[in-house]
Amino acid sequence: MNEFEPEPVCIAAFHRIAKQPAGELSYSPAHFRKLCAFWREFYVVLPLAECFGQPDAPGRPRLAITFDDGYADNAEIAAPILAELGLPATFFLPTAWIGSGRSFPWDAACSPAPPVMDWTQAQGLVCAGFGVGSHTCTHVRLASCRSEQRRRELLESKRELEDRLGIEVLDFAYPFGGREDCSEEDRVAVAEAGYRCCLSCFGGLADARDPMHARRIAVSPRWHASPRAWRRHWQQALNEWRRKRSGLDVIVPSHGAQIGANLGEGKAGGLG
Ligand SMILES: [Zn+2]
Repeated sequence: MNEFEPEPVCIAAFHRIAKQPAGELSYSPAHFRKLCAFWREFYVVLPLAECFGQPDAPGRPRLAITFDDGYADNAEIAAPILAELGLPATFFLPTAWIGSGRSFPWDAACSPAPPVMDWTQAQGLVCAGFGVGSHTCTHVRLASCRSEQRRRELLESKRELEDRLGIEVLDFAYPFGGREDCSEEDRVAVAEAGYRCCLSCFGGLADARDPMHARRIAVSPRWHASPRAWRRHWQQALNEWRRKRSGLDVIVPSHGAQIGANLGEGKAGGLG
């Protein structure tokens, strides 16, 4: 067994927190608050940067909170709830959309279409201590790009975020987030552009030793309507991780059992 054999990290990916949720990736403020409060109690919620290459925290599983696409509700609704609960998060912004006044094509059927945040709101996230990462410039499917366009999307989004927000941008989440949306060649380009991690969004837990293949779980009201539903889903992901690891003959501590034990029936009922 290696000296450094950490438990996996859970990286949660949100899109919208909306008072009138619409669609699978839109979560209500009340549900968001409840889930975050649950995580605060039963997980170690870390800034994204601290998830990779760090020794395991004893006793509780590690979790990071992320947001994709830069919807205005991230700044207006999610960030204040996170700040109130004292939880870190990273927001992945597609720079060409920020402050553009345009809404995303996939929201065309919504009336009114949910707005994208402006640069003042992005700056507010930084001032409040949240992380900001790149989600390309145009929200392009990276695997569909020719090399020069890919390079531009990776470098220009990083540079614009750094120039406008006065921070170093090292985290990258690729748009659409499927297995096929980012090739190994793309990942090399992501690393060459100066990013330290590359986040997908097709489920599963992240290996803290492999930040360029970091998996995320997209949080959805369909699958995670309550903390109890979240816990079930997370336990499945952990079981999957352990099944894969068992082939390597690695013994891992039982975080899932511990959370289950901590959540007595009465307590879980209150959270659900
Ligand atoms: Zn996206």
